[in-house]
Amino acid sequence: MDIYEKLNIKKIINASETYTVLGGSLMDEKTLRAMEAAANAFVDFTELLDKANKRAALLTNNESAFISSGAGACLILAVAAAMIKKEVDKQTGSVFAELLDSLPDTSCITAKEVLVLRGEYLESVPYWKLIKNTGAKVVMVDPVLSDIEKAITEKTAAIVLFPSPLYERNILSCEQILPVIKNRNITTIVDASAQLPPASNLYYYTRKLCADIAIFSGGKHIKGPQCTGLMVGNPEITHISEELASPHERLGRGFKTGKEEIAGLIAALEQFVEEGEEERYQRQEKLLQIIWDDLSVMPKINIKIQKEGRLGTFQPLLLIELPAGKSASECNDYTRSRERPVDIGVYAKEFQMPDNVIFINAYNLQNTDEALEVSCSVKEYLNF
Ligand SMILES: *Cc1c(COP(=O)(O)O)cnc(C)c1O
Repeated sequence: MDIYEKLNIKKIINASETYTVLGGSLMDEKTLRAMEAAANAFVDFTELLDKANKRAALLTNNESAFISSGAGACLILAVAAAMIKKEVDKQTGSVFAELLDSLPDTSCITAKEVLVLRGEYLESVPYWKLIKNTGAKVVMVDPVLSDIEKAITEKTAAIVLFPSPLYERNILSCEQILPVIKNRNITTIVDASAQLPPASNLYYYTRKLCADIAIFSGGKHIKGPQCTGLMVGNPEITHISEELASPHERLGRGFKTGKEEIAGLIAALEQFVEEGEEERYQRQEKLLQIIWDDLSVMPKINIKIQKEGRLGTFQPLLLIELPAGKSASECNDYTRSRERPVDIGVYAKEFQMPDNVIFINAYNLQNTDEALEVSCSVKEYLNF
């Protein structure tokens, strides 16, 4: 009997997304084995973290990397590091330890403003609220180049951008903003937590767009442990983040990452960058085709494969238009209530999709059996 059975919790088939509320993603065998092996010995933790960070930098083709307990933790640490970096650049090195110890009290820090673009997207990605945990002041700026340039002053520590066609709808993209503010002495942070695959995005924002830092969730598409995240890019920021984080008793002490998680994230990253993009895509496409074939016996529903994920990522999605009068959220209420629950993709309102369209994402589907259970659950909902 496993823990879910002991606690009487039903296992859910994930046909929607790498949502944290469903458990993100599942780790592969190799990742689990790496975690188990790591759990079997004591090591010098600082040495492990240091060498794992270097390995992560190499695997992601970045100058530097830092592993923490989630993308959220990375965002907090990167912003905190940005404030400290600018202060240290101004003063002498002797204040470094004091600054590290002081956060989230920012009274001795001059540059404590962090720019965030105004826009409808702020409701879809509420992660910008985490910036305040550092003691920084969030300054909202209109998404116009001249306004952004004007907003950058001596008091600005960083700007945090959220890429993806959805979040950047009606506002400037990070491709448009980053080159313009490159030499303004602030840390540019791109929260690209869910912008994978392709794996090349692991260096796209930092190498191609020259962002100082890009952040990724370890527990989403990388399929690492749920409580891992990765920041990559500028070595000064990753170094300060490391000083702020566990095992040091500072701002990031609560974001503890254990040796098992560190081992798991490295193993997952190795597999993620190793798997061919086409291979990854086709694995999902095949499962979606099985669902499509099984559903095509029903009249009156339109099905198509969309070539990219909801946030513009390189993955296929099956879009299913349910008959008039049916709704995606009602469908999911039904499929979730079954003996073998299935979580079907329901578009949030900001996607501006019709109410009766569901999406099926095969990223987290484990096998043909699960794929058939997905189509079966939709057929049941439609009384077919
Ligand atoms: C999921 C997500 C996060 C949080 O990631 P965790 O690894 O769960 O902390 C942060 N930002 C964005 C844009 C995300 O999609």
